[in-house]
Amino acid sequence: MYDAVIVGAGPAGITAALYLARSGCSVLLFENLTPGGQVLLTEKLENYPGYPQGIKGYELADQFAAHLADLNSIERPQGEVSSITGNAGDFTIKAEAGEDEYHARVVLVCSGARHRTLGLEKEDAFIGRGVSYCAICDGNFYRNQVVAVAGGGNSALEETLYLANIASKVHLIHRRNAFRGYQVYQDRIAANDKVEVHLSTVIEALEGEKELTGLALKNVATGAQEILPVHGLFIYVGFIPQTGFLPEAVERDHQGFIVTDTEMRTNVPGIFAAGDIRSKLCRQVITAAGDGATAAQAAFVFLEQLDG
Ligand code: NAP
Repeated sequence: MYDAVIVGAGPAGITAALYLARSGCSVLLFENLTPGGQVLLTEKLENYPGYPQGIKGYELADQFAAHLADLNSIERPQGEVSSITGNAGDFTIKAEAGEDEYHARVVLVCSGARHRTLGLEKEDAFIGRGVSYCAICDGNFYRNQVVAVAGGGNSALEETLYLANIASKVHLIHRRNAFRGYQVYQDRIAANDKVEVHLSTVIEALEGEKELTGLALKNVATGAQEILPVHGLFIYVGFIPQTGFLPEAVERDHQGFIVTDTEMRTNVPGIFAAGDIRSKLCRQVITAAGDGATAAQAAFVFLEQLDG
């Protein structure tokens, strides 16, 4: 029986593990492959305090993970949690399709979110053949080639700028006539002559037989259609919360993100949530870490109450 099981080893989960372990709790921290979460998919963070020159995503993830290295009360199995059942004081956590079973007195859900797809025919089939959701992972395959980015949030804008350093040209395609990403990125994009912006434009189809060769675009304002030849398409159209393993009883918002109070408590006693998985306005590395600290503190108080 662990004091706490933490699902997800991104900034929220790692911070929660650190705080709970330092409070003397036994912790099981589930990580899916490598620690870091979405930080690993970010080329450079320019808004994390303490790094005025910015820091590479993988470097920050390494530093987060290194912070856990000497804490012996944290066990770190790799694997995917498949279900959580039971009640405060004795939750059963199954992982790896039910093959592994663990017990914990409280659960902290820090499982973050996965990329959303455009839902186009051939989108799946073209993954690795022109379609990607990670510019840092795959951008180099498109050196000096023409690529497109879909989306209008901070991820799309940041990765457009990243790809502009690699590709010969980047077409940024956004369905509305205004971006939701930061103005500072919009200004850099406007000043970058390698980037061509297509506003009010949707991708209707992916062209190509065995690999991506182009995009069928439609301007939703004018109705104009065109085929845009590209070698690669990087899709950044938001994220979907990873909550499939959670009991139905845990309240979620209309998009599926977990509803918590300000102390990261869900409506189910003993289950806490932190980071991008939460229903909230601001999804940043710094806010995920902050959530993790708050959730750990609230969980610690809850554990003390369980002890009576
Ligand atoms: P996001 O902010 O949710 O933006 C998703 C974008 O995709 C929106 O522009 C949206 O269009 C578009 N979109 C959604 N579904 C679509 C569809 N089916 N077809 C075409 N376009 C679609 O997601 P994100 O950019 O990944 O960012 C996620 C969170 O992380 C945000 O809170 C963001 O601020 C944060 N973030 C911060 C930084 C940073 O601070 N440096 C970097 C990256 C991400 P509409 O605009 O029309 O809705």
